[in-house]
This record gives sequence, C-alpha cells and structure tokens, in this order.
Amino acid sequence: MDTKPHRSGTRLSLCFLLLLIVFGETASLAAQANDASERGPVRQQTLRRSEKPDVLQQAYTDVYSILQRPNRCSAFFGGPNAALVLQQLVPRVSSVSMGNELWVRMSGSYALAYDVSRKFGYRLIDKVEINLDGAFYSSAPKLNASIPGGMHAGTREIRAVALLHELGHLIQGPDGKWLLPDDGDNFYRSNINTERVLRECRADVRSATSLSFDAATGQSP
Ligand SMILES: [Zn+2]
Repeated sequence: MDTKPHRSGTRLSLCFLLLLIVFGETASLAAQANDASERGPVRQQTLRRSEKPDVLQQAYTDVYSILQRPNRCSAFFGGPNAALVLQQLVPRVSSVSMGNELWVRMSGSYALAYDVSRKFGYRLIDKVEINLDGAFYSSAPKLNASIPGGMHAGTREIRAVALLHELGHLIQGPDGKWLLPDDGDNFYRSNINTERVLRECRADVRSATSLSFDAATGQSP
C-alpha cells in the first residue's frame, strides 16, 4: 500500500480505478488491428455527418492524431498500438454526474490482451464513466484551482490529457507494468499520474489541440 501522504484534500482525483473482478484472457491484437483499420473510415464518415461533433469525439480525434504520429507522447504510450486501445476504450464511455472532483472513473471487470509479435500488452475495463460535472465537460472557473499543470477546465487540452491518463492505466510498458500505476481514489497519486502524462505529452497535446477540428479530421470547411 502506498503510504505517501495526501498533499491536500482539495487535490483533484482524475479517476478511480476500481478493478473488482478479473476474468483476464489473452487475446491477439492482430485481429483487432485489422478490425481497427476497417473502422477508421467509418469513424471519419460519422464525424462528417455531424456539424458540431461533441467534445468526446473531438478529444478522441485529438488523442488519436497524437498516437498515430512519431512524437514523444506517442513513444511513451506505444504509438499506433495505443491508438488501437483508444479505439476500444471510447465506445465503452458513458457520461454521468459525479460531483465536481472526478474527471473519469473506470470500474468493473477487465480483460487482458497481449500481442506476442508486437510485444504489446493492454487491458480493457468494462465501465468508463466521464463526469458531466467535472473538468472534462464543465468549464466552471471554480474547477481550475485543483487542476494540475495550470490546465483549464473544459478545454480540448484537459480532455486529451484525461483520455491519455486513462490509456496509461490500460497499457503495459516494456517492463510489463502498467504505464501509470493504479491510483484508486488517491488524489495525490492520481495527480502524480497526470503530471507524468503532462511531462511526456504536453507539447504534443498543445500542438494537436491547436489545430482546428476540421484540420484534425481531414474534413473540408
Ligand atoms: Zn488514474
């Protein structure tokens, strides 16, 4: 058990990672890679039909574009392999009200997958809930005081960082450990994980989120 003291009761908890039941079975990424390549155009078509893509679609596109390109952030997460995990994470997302502090909560059973040829392992967790009242969706100024790294609530930057934080809990590093250790309901450890994401990804997130959404998706104005 981590015995580090809580820094402050006001620190923001990015996510609760509650792993209650394990039924992990190995699976191959190869088939999923084929599936993902088939889903790419479908995603584009869906976005083209929407005049005002919702913020989750936008966050997905921002993070997907980062992971598909060679950059520091992508290297940390495993590059295009991580984009495949993102594709499987987002359809599990629901949005619920959970008070102001949480951004995202993952809970329930999870499945493990490992691609031997790529030496890439990850897990998928049943339930991924984004807080309607938290900084992912809300831009309420009162939320800013407890957000790490000087980010602002309700921005493309914070949404991309939030998705990358969750991906960090789902993807194994070369040492076999999760890129970001579980932080449960520990605000201090959650913020340490967010700060790690910012160290690896801030420049790339800022670059991606400075593009217009049309440019990021390849759509015409
Ligand atoms: Zn976390």
